[in-house]
Amino acid sequence: MVRHLIRSFFVTAAVIGSASAQVGDSKTVGEPLAALIVDGQNNHGWQQTTPLLRAILLNSGRFTVDVVTSPKRGEDIGAFAPKFGSYDVVVSNYNGQLWPKKTREAFAGYIRGGGGFVSVHAADNAFPNWADYNRMIGVGGWGRRDEKSGPYVRWRDGAVVRDTHAGRGGSHGRRHEFVLEARTPQHPILRGLPTRWKHTADELYDRLRGPAENLTVLATAYSDPKTGGSGEHEPLLMAISFGKGRVFHTALGHDTTAMKCIGFQSTLLRGSEWAATGRVTIPAADGFPSADAVSSRDPLKDVWTHIFDGKTLSGWTQKNGTATYRVEDGVIVGTTADGSPNSFLCSDRNYADFELEFEVMVDNRLNSGMQIRSASNPEFKNGRVHGPQVEIEASPGEAGHIYSEGTGRGWISPAKHRNDPARRKAFQNGKWNRYRVLADGARIQTWINDVAVGDVTDPKSKRVGFLGLQVHGIGRGAGPWQVRWRRIRIRELTR
Ligand code: ZN
Repeated sequence: MVRHLIRSFFVTAAVIGSASAQVGDSKTVGEPLAALIVDGQNNHGWQQTTPLLRAILLNSGRFTVDVVTSPKRGEDIGAFAPKFGSYDVVVSNYNGQLWPKKTREAFAGYIRGGGGFVSVHAADNAFPNWADYNRMIGVGGWGRRDEKSGPYVRWRDGAVVRDTHAGRGGSHGRRHEFVLEARTPQHPILRGLPTRWKHTADELYDRLRGPAENLTVLATAYSDPKTGGSGEHEPLLMAISFGKGRVFHTALGHDTTAMKCIGFQSTLLRGSEWAATGRVTIPAADGFPSADAVSSRDPLKDVWTHIFDGKTLSGWTQKNGTATYRVEDGVIVGTTADGSPNSFLCSDRNYADFELEFEVMVDNRLNSGMQIRSASNPEFKNGRVHGPQVEIEASPGEAGHIYSEGTGRGWISPAKHRNDPARRKAFQNGKWNRYRVLADGARIQTWINDVAVGDVTDPKSKRVGFLGLQVHGIGRGAGPWQVRWRRIRIRELTR
């Protein structure tokens, strides 16, 4: 927006100081984690389940996701060589042919060197004779696994028992709903979750066996002989360390029904984040099941896209002024330029109806904003960026309200909203602020840090256009001031 800039004279140095302390957390905070799902061969329906795994990871807002699909069984797998080292975590939905030696060595080296790995359900059936792989997953099943593979891992009388009796490795009874019991509830993956929850109908793997080195049993379920089980409390969620790497092993997830369990999704996410970083910031999901009732959600009905990759400005183009934009530790940093008019870093794509989320931190004396449904064309004021802008500025102020940038209309948000004291202080100065924007038809709603701020129905604005990150123009001799954005993601509304 265009109006007075100099409104508050707080100590700018202190604000900048706190900004750099927070972005110093680097990848573990600002930048999405890069996940790679491996599939292509599995005695399970990987064509159906990989899209769910991908959506679960994407919907969290914490991950970007690539999928690498191996050649089909029987085809030449000799050139299959995913670039594991480009990712923070590899999620396996693969149970098939042995990978080539070079690829196996690259994978083991990647995990040993600190990479993250998540083994999902039948991925623990894979590679019975690959020693390093069996150390990574701790225990596995089928593939002629037996006592030579290692012990069974049992939970008896409150402790892990390594049972070396002879016998097959890997079995399961009839598919049914069963209760997971946390056995290491203070582990980051489980901390804060219910200690007992009912899992959606799934195979309850039993009698898994393997080296079981450096293995923590996170959760077990009782495998009831009445449903064809072992009569033991079977480990179904496990954490394993391998060199400097971390492995989360979930034996759950036979099919899409099992993966729609919110307990599966929540533990998969937290396990993937832990495998990638050693820490868990993803909160327990809403609707997490209780011990008495299952709870499901279809992740494909709610797909988010990161429109800032955390590393480059690919997909964005600067328009109008000469402020600078650069990427630093997963954050887009916009810096004012002496005497420049308003600058905008605009998405190359247009969006119509959507939900948008991002986090922003701004120097107290700088005005900024997020353009939505905006345009720039030679016929209108020589390319002037114009359209609705969600205001970004220090409190107490008009952050979150909607201004018609570049059109001369001024504020779209009514004065009674803009003067509401509760809304005027939703924005927290010197901190990261979480914005949510819902643009659905003519109605635009905004939230800052979960406080409802903007709510307009505006038939005059365009219904489609680009997003734009504003660095407001400043007068000569003022600034330089900065604004920072991170975790920018969008979910298009389709109907
Ligand atoms: Zn299965």
